[in-house]
Amino acid sequence: MYTFTDRGDRSLTLRPEMTASVVRAFIEHNLGGQSLPVKLYYFGNMFRYERPQAGRYREFWQLGVESLGSPEPAADAEVITLAVKYIQDTGIQKATLLLGSMGDEQCRPAFIRGLVDDLSSRSELLCDDCRPRLEFNPLRVFDCKNPGCRAALVDAPKMVDHLCAECNDHFDQVKRLLDDVGVVYQVDPMLVRGFDYYTRTTFELTSDELGAQNALGGGGRYDRLVADYGGKPTPAVGFALGVERLLLAVEALGEGDNIEKPYTGVYIAVVEDDARSLAFKLATELRSAGFSVELDHMARSLRAQMKSTDRLGASTVVVIGPDELSKGEVTVRNLADGTESAVALADLAGHLGAVRNDNKKV
Ligand code: AMP
Repeated sequence: MYTFTDRGDRSLTLRPEMTASVVRAFIEHNLGGQSLPVKLYYFGNMFRYERPQAGRYREFWQLGVESLGSPEPAADAEVITLAVKYIQDTGIQKATLLLGSMGDEQCRPAFIRGLVDDLSSRSELLCDDCRPRLEFNPLRVFDCKNPGCRAALVDAPKMVDHLCAECNDHFDQVKRLLDDVGVVYQVDPMLVRGFDYYTRTTFELTSDELGAQNALGGGGRYDRLVADYGGKPTPAVGFALGVERLLLAVEALGEGDNIEKPYTGVYIAVVEDDARSLAFKLATELRSAGFSVELDHMARSLRAQMKSTDRLGASTVVVIGPDELSKGEVTVRNLADGTESAVALADLAGHLGAVRNDNKKV
């Protein structure tokens, strides 16, 4: 936790994640009073007092969704499928979906007792951090990368093998639904997510492109959290993706350039200075018509203006030259294919609209 004392001697903690905040908002604003499930999303910066390293920062961004209200395995499958689809849509094709189950209050306590008994018999293998965890938070041993702890875990009991009948049935149904829609997963008996609030389904999405910090995102079901915060018991499931990690993975794959570039905008260039006031007027009109428009305010030469189009990522340049202007026309150059056409000023918005629609279809 990123905790500090402010000038009023109050202890403040910056939010490390959003699910708890979403749950509090859900209760405070009585969102459960409407038709369930309630589906919410967020995008924001989070803070954790971690040792910074590649892909791990003290301030980072997450985007996430929460679906509150349904206990059905289909809600889990829907949320997982959305996370997978989102990652694929960013261009990352090689993410791995790891799937697990943390059981529930029926089966988890007995499992944890068995785990502690088992690991205690091999406690000499555990690292100095994990030995006390046997008492306070034994599931966390599964998160440890220490070779001794990994060795101790090989033969240790795994939650997915000790689920009660209901949890097992839920897990089977989630898997079947994912199979039905072709979402590929690996059941990972070692998958234990860091937050204590999870029940049943947990999942993580990893990318080989990322090195040690390879998790792109993760999530799971948290059927007790709303009640733990004082709300009416409400089952829920959600995920969070790490935005910086997504960007790192896209860069590592070299796929940033392959992602379809949407229409980005219009640049209005002038050949001679006396066309600048017309350029400003056209820019204002086109912006009102919904176009994203840039023009030069630095008295640059035409050559330098054309260079700016690249930097700004414009897809179309409107050139106002003296010859065309005398005919009430401008030249419209499509930067994607280099084609040019003379367009009457009165038709400019219509022409650009047609180009924009064509680009969207690409
Ligand atoms: P968590 O709920 O802790 O698994 O976080 C969800 C995702 O947020 C992780 O899979 C990472 O992609 C990202 N994330 C978590 N902590 C950090 C951090 N310190 N720096 C950057 N990204 C992070």
